[in-house]
Amino acid sequence: MKTPDESVVHGSKARPQDLPALDKLLRDCAPLVAEHGHTLVAGEARVLLDGLRARAVVGQLTRLELEALAPMLAARVQARLAPSMRAVLNLSGTVIHTNLGRALLADAALQQVLALMGSPNNLEFDLDSGSRGDRDDLIEGLLCELTGAEAATVVNNNAAAVLLGIAALARGREAIVSRGELVEIGGAFRMPDVMSTAGATLVEVGTTNRTHSRDYEQAITPRTGLIVKVHTSNYQVQGFTAAVDEATLAPLAHAAGLPLMTDLGSGALVDLSKYGLPAEPLPQAMLAAGCDVVTFSGDKLLGGPQAGLIVGSREAVGRIRKFPMKRALRLSKLPFAALEATLRLYLRPERLVQDLPTLRLLTRNQAQIAALAQRLLPEVATAVAPRFGVEVVALQSQIGSGSLPVERLPSAGLAITAVDGRGRTLEALATALRGLPRPVVGRIHDDRLLLDLRCLEEPALLTSQLGLLKEMLA
Ligand SMILES: *Cc1c(COP(=O)(O)O)cnc(C)c1O
Repeated sequence: MKTPDESVVHGSKARPQDLPALDKLLRDCAPLVAEHGHTLVAGEARVLLDGLRARAVVGQLTRLELEALAPMLAARVQARLAPSMRAVLNLSGTVIHTNLGRALLADAALQQVLALMGSPNNLEFDLDSGSRGDRDDLIEGLLCELTGAEAATVVNNNAAAVLLGIAALARGREAIVSRGELVEIGGAFRMPDVMSTAGATLVEVGTTNRTHSRDYEQAITPRTGLIVKVHTSNYQVQGFTAAVDEATLAPLAHAAGLPLMTDLGSGALVDLSKYGLPAEPLPQAMLAAGCDVVTFSGDKLLGGPQAGLIVGSREAVGRIRKFPMKRALRLSKLPFAALEATLRLYLRPERLVQDLPTLRLLTRNQAQIAALAQRLLPEVATAVAPRFGVEVVALQSQIGSGSLPVERLPSAGLAITAVDGRGRTLEALATALRGLPRPVVGRIHDDRLLLDLRCLEEPALLTSQLGLLKEMLA
């Protein structure tokens, strides 16, 4: 019980003149200033005092709050120093989630980044001769070995690889693409726009659902510079369809003296069907089919950092490398280090499932995930009770990043329903989960909040936050 005196003091309003001067507050918070310096702490103190003064003026500030000035200032400083980009738990069911940063780097890649980024390195320095080197030399041999290409280079991402490839091979000329492949990859990356940005004239052939060899043949003129194939990774046309594959197109292009470029998008480097996963076309197969240039992403099925990989013939890759735009799109040393380390993991295919997180997560089997869900059920149920009920359910994960859009991976997880059955309550729970120190991202479907546990490799990251979640929901 409060004494009358206490309630008078704590309940009473603070006036603007009760607020300390900035200097006084900074003196009271000397250790904070010593730790972080005057600039940041004084800046935050000023904003804090201004806010409180505004509230005091309208009689909304209590004396109790005044006593908490020091911890409030410390919290503000901490919040300013905490990065906006944070680790989250991806329980969305989409393994390679573009909005959640796509592929997770392998330990080898993380260690390489850590070891090299704080130190000078031989990025463009030939250690044998002691003279200037080319960053491509560090990675080209490995990429050629893994894909069977004659030459290879890397750029900032696959969008850059496609743009650069078209610009280098077809600028000022015509590039032929099937109407069925004029796709939008996401954001503003649409094939027709990429063509015009690259300075090539788009020549569409065939129809949305069917394109034949003769459509390409008839479109070839003296103005043609390139034939482009785009792997329509993020949608599928089903039913009465026809497309011309690379093995058929390559001789046709080469007979006319034209290069053939294919954009694979996802670009798995190993046959995924060996792991019981849906098959994706491989760069090595595209090269064997006669493509002169194949482009694919570093952070989709490859399981590495954001990067655009370009593999192909010496002649075509040579033209791409010499094209001035290449310099503006080059891969920075940070993803470069991670990419090389990731690619080296492919030299040990037997270990790939353990070593490469993307493959490890994609191949987790349903029984294993369901057992985890069963184990977590009681703790999660306690945390969200009594307003929500939880059960273990079978789910379907997606690969993500436009890879194999119609394929699903049998998975499992927890389905949470609101006892009062109202959607808004479920939204509030989803918001609370995202508000945790390690935000948890699930998905709401059919009035259930689904937590797909395929990508939860460290359950403690979830369970350690359940107490806090319970408090947030109280
Ligand atoms: C994802 C994708 C791209 C873009 O690759 P980024 O690495 O995201 O730039 C281009 N083409 C296709 C077919 C894709 O699937």
